[in-house]
Amino acid sequence: MPDACPVCGQAFEPEVGFYWGAMYISYGFSTFIVAIVGVLLYFLGHDPDVWVYVVAVAAAVLAFTPLMFRYARAVMLYAFGGTNF
Ligand SMILES: [Zn+2]
Repeated sequence: MPDACPVCGQAFEPEVGFYWGAMYISYGFSTFIVAIVGVLLYFLGHDPDVWVYVVAVAAAVLAFTPLMFRYARAVMLYAFGGTNF
């Protein structure tokens, strides 16, 4: 990742350890995915066995990890990095 945006000069790491907070945002994203997949399985999958929930939720969260990683950092920058919309 470059140190700053080549277009507008926004620093991508405003301070050391800045992205620790993105971990909590990512946690929120995964909780959202777990809830959505769980509710969908319950209502559309007719409440399957517990192992189906575990496997489906783990697969969904793993599939979305690359997106969550990037969007959690972007949200962190917008919320706390002084980025202007
Ligand atoms: Zn920029």
